[in-house]
Amino acid sequence: MGDHHLFLKPWGGIRAEDWYDWKWQFKNSLRTVAPGAVEIDGSPWLHKELLSVTETYPFRVTPYYLALMDLSDQTDPLRRQCFPDPQEIHFSLGGVDDPLGEQCDMPVPGLIHRYADRCLIMATNVCAMYCRHCNRKRLWGRGPFAGTQAYLQPMFDYIRGKKEIREVILSGGDPLTLSDRSLAWMLASLRSIPQVEVLRIGSRIPVVMPMRITPTFCKMLRKYRPLWFNTQFNHPREITPAAARACEMLLEAGIPVSNQSVLLRGVNDSYGVMQELLYSLQRISVRPYYLFQCDPVRGTDHFRVDLWKGLEIMEKLWRNISGLCMPRYVVDLPGGKGKAPLQSFSFLSANNMNSSEHFFDKNC
Ligand SMILES: *Cc1c(COP(=O)(O)O)cnc(C)c1O
Ligand code: SF4
Repeated sequence: MGDHHLFLKPWGGIRAEDWYDWKWQFKNSLRTVAPGAVEIDGSPWLHKELLSVTETYPFRVTPYYLALMDLSDQTDPLRRQCFPDPQEIHFSLGGVDDPLGEQCDMPVPGLIHRYADRCLIMATNVCAMYCRHCNRKRLWGRGPFAGTQAYLQPMFDYIRGKKEIREVILSGGDPLTLSDRSLAWMLASLRSIPQVEVLRIGSRIPVVMPMRITPTFCKMLRKYRPLWFNTQFNHPREITPAAARACEMLLEAGIPVSNQSVLLRGVNDSYGVMQELLYSLQRISVRPYYLFQCDPVRGTDHFRVDLWKGLEIMEKLWRNISGLCMPRYVVDLPGGKGKAPLQSFSFLSANNMNSSEHFFDKNC
């Protein structure tokens, strides 16, 4: 994008009680890169360029998340996750909208049943922030579908009829953009299905709008345990005191919090950043669960990291940091074949292969 910089027009006089109110944050999310909303260093063409990206892939970021980044730095890892990039629509290497074939594993619209014992519900396609690397970015452009009974009831009916489903994942979009009331209704409906033992919520809210995690919300969630919460921190700078507090409140409510990062070029594709991220997660008692290889989704090419580089980072982490900090590095196989672990078998490298005794000798 050349040497152009983005400058945000300052908000005048925000009151603290507004800033800490998630509804204010949600309502006041920045949703356009038009001139006047954000100022781009004297370059009309760049505005036009970015606006055309957002016609295909909408833009949205909360004031909270915006305040964490250096807007004048195009390489800022937080800015990179939410600001449109012309590469999203210009340089696709032939990625597809739905490489994981989610649409094919959908017995009911919005429900993906790929693994026998668990299924995933896309409760809404609305998010508090649209992450440019999202593997469901194909869904943003459609009209919002959000948590209505007409949309969800057929999914609940399907689950009730499938005795092998013991775990249900509420995902999206971001389910926490829905109200406490509709979430409570969804959780209660799922809890009323006898074979559903475990509930899971997948949400990036603790990262992009942590004030959504309120005491009332936690009190409500508490009733539906065992409930597991998976979020997505991708960079250590996202672990702010507010984000840490949000996770702590969930933990205090008896809800284990895990993290699923995506390996992203220019965000966290180095040993140093990844180590700091994993250490920071451990400090706030959030368990690293997965590190995803970025899927070959159309419009995300510029984020993809070479698989061997990913393995190299994992290898070095494995040798240097606590096992409790280690996520599993996985790739979601194209065509709905599911997640597969990526593991470097370095101990089988040429040197050691020549003599297995040499390898085992090290234990003595
Ligand atoms: C990732 C995923 C799950 C959950 O898998 P876990 O390995 O249990 O985290 C469930 N359903 C679908 C469709 C998924 O993509
Ligand atoms: S919050 Fe999740 S679903 Fe929404 S855009 Fe980000 S990665 Fe995608």
